[in-house]
Amino acid sequence: MTTETPRLDWDQFARLGADIAAWGAEYHRTLSSRPVRAPLVPGQVAGTFPLAPPEDGEGIDGILADLDDKVVPGLTHWQHPRFFAYFPANATPPSMLADFVAAILAQQGMLWQTSPAGTEIETRMMDWLRQGLGLPETFQGVIQDSASGATLAAILVMRERALDWAGNRQGLPGQARIRIYASDEVHTSVDRAIWIAGIGAENLVRIPTRGPLRAMDPDALRAQIAADRAAGYLPAGIVACVGGTGTGACDDLTQVLAIARDEGLYSHVDAAWAGAAMICPEFRDLWAGIEGADSLVLNPHKWMGVQFDFSAHFLRDPEPLVRTLAIQPEYLKTHGKDGFVNYSEWSVPLGRRFRALKLWFVLKAYGLNGLRAVMRDHVRWSQALAEDLRADPRFEIVTEPVLSLFTFGLKGADDAAMIDYVTRVNDDGRIYVTQGRTGGRIVVRFQVGTFACREEDVRLAGAVLKELAEVGLPPRTSRLRGFPPLRNP
Ligand SMILES: *Cc1c(COP(=O)(O)O)cnc(C)c1O
Repeated sequence: MTTETPRLDWDQFARLGADIAAWGAEYHRTLSSRPVRAPLVPGQVAGTFPLAPPEDGEGIDGILADLDDKVVPGLTHWQHPRFFAYFPANATPPSMLADFVAAILAQQGMLWQTSPAGTEIETRMMDWLRQGLGLPETFQGVIQDSASGATLAAILVMRERALDWAGNRQGLPGQARIRIYASDEVHTSVDRAIWIAGIGAENLVRIPTRGPLRAMDPDALRAQIAADRAAGYLPAGIVACVGGTGTGACDDLTQVLAIARDEGLYSHVDAAWAGAAMICPEFRDLWAGIEGADSLVLNPHKWMGVQFDFSAHFLRDPEPLVRTLAIQPEYLKTHGKDGFVNYSEWSVPLGRRFRALKLWFVLKAYGLNGLRAVMRDHVRWSQALAEDLRADPRFEIVTEPVLSLFTFGLKGADDAAMIDYVTRVNDDGRIYVTQGRTGGRIVVRFQVGTFACREEDVRLAGAVLKELAEVGLPPRTSRLRGFPPLRNP
């Protein structure tokens, strides 16, 4: 006995695709009435799925009802207008549509010839972005899957360059011990890149910070490099941050990159979150000196409306990167100047999605000015809230706003009371924030960055933060629990 395998035909695809678009529009229209963070316990979502896969195909008609029942209630809504946690991960409508197109075309852009359009549009979009950011013409960009991926690639370059390109060939045993320098404010993706690159956590040397932006102390950096050389280590690179994840710390790039140059070290700047805001000229002081960096990453998938995954990795000269990562660097001599760029030679993964479409659609839809207006609003609203909380005697601002990020505490609250407070705020459901630790204490980290956010959402956040600010209140359950399911279109 044979059974007919059900196949999705293209008419059904077109119908379901339109239904999904309408369902998606309704999801976003009703988003603000939902609790921001998923109000459920571990196992609740998995429990709605059968334990075993279907033996026979059922087709996917009716899938929207399943999405409503099983998926949406288990979401933490990153696109919610009152998402103030972590950093944003914006997906704008043009970017969603571009990703749908990318899925339909399903390109594998590892070589120029495997997707000439994918490759050439990536080159052009990265150059548009370079111009928007005010980076010098010599910088060339590549799209990486994540800032973590870009940082790993940069750390591998530091290693290979310092070892005169022997690490990939010979492995690390018997080589000089490499050292890389960063402050405590850099993201944990730097630690992991150090582990994966075989350099070892002990050889990521932390340089103390100073000043209002918690910047690496350049004198301490120089002294550490000199001491390491004297002790027989091989200094290889410096990772600087602009807009660190915890509190928005910014290294002084002019000083740090001058040291890298003097010492012959490769430099990588992690501006994953803050970098996007550099399309606004008035914020560029934060990364003054950036033109001296060898490598730089920023995430349009955070604050630029280009949804995950899209990290922009710029190189002052791609040659060391390609020399580190290309299996057969045939075009090494030209670096793509003859038009044949093989972007898989610029990144750890071989396969590449058609991600450039997202930046194209977004820039075409909003223009640089449209994006600048969104970010400027976020910065203004966030700074206004910081002032509002400062004026309330129960609050203290712990780190001053860097762009749209600041941290604050409740006066007289110890760490346990601060954690209670954050839990109370998030269980309430109207807003979502994350806690952080800075200067040895637990703080609330607040950032504005969601494209759906309006000024009244930030004002409401202020009202919620004040309403729940009494120390010692028991946790409350969400007043928004039991929200209605999304209706199928
Ligand atoms: C978010 C963030 C990262 C990690 O970004 P991914 O793209 O998720 O890897 C790295 N560095 C900083 C400063 C960040 O804010």
